[in-house]
Amino acid sequence: MSEIARIVSCIDGYDPDALHVEKARAAIRACLAPVAASERVPLRTALGRVLAEDIVPAIDVPGHDNSAMDGYAVRSADLKADGETVLDEIGTALAGRAYEGNVGAGQCVRVMTGAVLPAGADTVVIQEVVRVEGKRIAIPPGQKPTQNVRYAGEDLKAGVAVLGSGARIGPAELGVIASLGIAKLSVRRRLRVAFFSTGDELTPVGAPLGQGQIHDSNRYTLHGMLSRLGVELLDFGIVRDDPAALEHALRSASLSADAIVTSGGVSVGEADFVRRLMGELGEVLFWKIAMRPGRPMAFGKIGNAFLFGLPGNPVAVMVTFYQFVREALLVLSGRTDDVTPASFRVQSAAAMRKIPGRTEYQRGVLYRENGEWKVRTTGQQGSGVLRSMAEANCFIVLEHERGAIAAGDPVGVQPFDGLV
Ligand code: AMP
Ligand code: MG
Repeated sequence: MSEIARIVSCIDGYDPDALHVEKARAAIRACLAPVAASERVPLRTALGRVLAEDIVPAIDVPGHDNSAMDGYAVRSADLKADGETVLDEIGTALAGRAYEGNVGAGQCVRVMTGAVLPAGADTVVIQEVVRVEGKRIAIPPGQKPTQNVRYAGEDLKAGVAVLGSGARIGPAELGVIASLGIAKLSVRRRLRVAFFSTGDELTPVGAPLGQGQIHDSNRYTLHGMLSRLGVELLDFGIVRDDPAALEHALRSASLSADAIVTSGGVSVGEADFVRRLMGELGEVLFWKIAMRPGRPMAFGKIGNAFLFGLPGNPVAVMVTFYQFVREALLVLSGRTDDVTPASFRVQSAAAMRKIPGRTEYQRGVLYRENGEWKVRTTGQQGSGVLRSMAEANCFIVLEHERGAIAAGDPVGVQPFDGLV
């Protein structure tokens, strides 16, 4: 038995003719090996990339104890518990300009947010509560020792790893790394993903449509979805339903890419020559997944490239991409966090038909009614109705075992947009 067949055969409940979506996910996961190569890049260039080293601070952030507020740095031992304390203001500390002296008994220093806490002081009293009489500062009772002080190393501690290899670098991570003064860092090399559409009926965008032809829209949705993942794109165009053309495309894609994503040609009626060809070039499994839309899907390896053979129907392409390919490509890119799509449950605005035994991904609109999030479908749900994806802002996930849904029932949703 070859490698992929051996790995997936170990998955409990693996049935290529009625494959539960979770089993398909597990089967793909079990076969993936992330890219290992890395490169050093300037900090800004690392946005969206996957870290290939642990970030261990060489310095504390902040580097000094400092004031969290505008006010007066005082010695807590001076403060009376039951009455006003009057202190002498002996100087000022600004952010970036420390007060060099020491705060002695009965003294205080005017401080601004971010100013280094002067020696001797341990507490900051906010300016709004004090009474100023020239250089005499009257402080009311009720101050808590150490209040309004930010401690050195409170954000990042020297020697304590803050980000691990495998983390995705987003805006916050860029800032954290910048706060450590690190200008260059190691990231995994970008995943190279080849993609093409198959079909004799396809006409490129920009060319006039012949009789019975349609424009190749899948390559545009694939371009969009892949671009968002930050992978390097290799567009192999439209490939005719012809064994020689398909063989040529698959061979050259497998030589230049880590993964190949195709659309069309994997449905039962069409799959015969594709199946034979892919079997000759590498090892590819043809699955009938218990889902709607997107039942047929091929997964395997040609040379060193992982192959994802998606169905041709435009909505099925997007659904199978987001349910299987997206997370596979993120894992291949080296991500070690949980990359499954975020989902939560909200009330369904209306009843929905559903039969147990397959997972359905309806296109939904999350909206708010009286402050409560609810979801409705976009209407017509055919797998050729790509408009349903354009009108949606989430998938409504109707799980495998579920039957009909009544209005008001909770349903799972996967929002299309993440915040960060
Ligand atoms: P297939 O999976 O190749 O049988 O295709 C299923 C359906 O999707 C057919 O109606 C195709 O015409 C359509 N289709 C296939 N590829 C594309 C594409 N690249 N863009 C738009 N529609 C497509
Ligand atoms: Mg086709």
